[in-house]
Amino acid sequence: MSLLEVQGLKTAFHTAEGTVQAVDDVDIRIDPGEIVGLVGESGSGKSVLTRSIMGLVESPGEVSAEEIRLNGQSLQEMSDEDLRAVRGNSISMIFQDPVNSLNPTLQVGEQIAENIRLHQDVNESVTLSAEVKRKILGAAKNAESWQRAIEMLESVGIPEAESRAQSYPHEFSGGMAQRAMVAMALSCQPDLLIADEPTTGLDVTIQAQILDELEALLTEFDTSILLITHDLAVVAETTTRANVMYAGEIIERAPTEELFDNPAHPYTEALIASTPRLENPDDRIEPIPGSVPDLIDIPYACHFSPRCPEATEECFELEPEPVDIGTNHEASCLKREPVGDL
Ligand code: SF4
Repeated sequence: MSLLEVQGLKTAFHTAEGTVQAVDDVDIRIDPGEIVGLVGESGSGKSVLTRSIMGLVESPGEVSAEEIRLNGQSLQEMSDEDLRAVRGNSISMIFQDPVNSLNPTLQVGEQIAENIRLHQDVNESVTLSAEVKRKILGAAKNAESWQRAIEMLESVGIPEAESRAQSYPHEFSGGMAQRAMVAMALSCQPDLLIADEPTTGLDVTIQAQILDELEALLTEFDTSILLITHDLAVVAETTTRANVMYAGEIIERAPTEELFDNPAHPYTEALIASTPRLENPDDRIEPIPGSVPDLIDIPYACHFSPRCPEATEECFELEPEPVDIGTNHEASCLKREPVGDL
């Protein structure tokens, strides 16, 4: 059974200018113990998609789906309270801006310890008065939750974790704050970690370390990861399967190696050509001409057609459906033949 199964998800925002179809009929699947990539330019709908899955889109946003299941349970049929519990226990998220995602008024170790008390089986009282006292005084430094918080900080590679646990978020560098966020997310022992641009804005060395740690944590904590990024190099480095998103739609999906070896959609080809290669830094980078379209009432059937070097008249009129091109590889392009028809 898949860990997460999403089918036919649509998210629309109704505005005075028209309807913004931010996510349009998206299917996505994540199996236990895998890292799945969701890649696309900024504005392609990646973050709205994950917020829709998590039930975090607020009015006037409108989300509908044939199915959103986690561990076989329908998230659409859950009460708000149960959904909040799923978000706290089974799914965790980390975002691009780690320093501002942490509570500036609490020691980092205390924030993780608090999560551990809420989500793990520790032998400590969680009565209201005990929690209020902790909020004011911080966790007792010999408490089990505090010790586990230090272990979590160690497990994500924070040096001198014992003293660092007593620091406040503003005393952390961007890289350290992101590691602390990873530790905090994993302290809930989630089945699924959604990492939204977790390395954007960090320098290349720290990026590589954080990605290595995400991979290691997958093994250690058996947590599946949905990695959202605009950076194809991050997808190549870390994921086993990848989904490419453009203008609210998943336009190509494949095992990651297959996607890079045999990209089938012109947008994926263009993305790869526009990504600098670490092994060949002198290769020419080809920027993709134009920009992601405004998602209000897009007038052309294939949303990529105005930017596509292969576009012909039919591309503006016929909507491409996903084509099975073999090896678990699908691409939504009118110019690609299904595997059986080759
Ligand atoms: S359907 Fe046409 S415009 Fe769209 S990606 Fe394929 S070739 Fe390009």
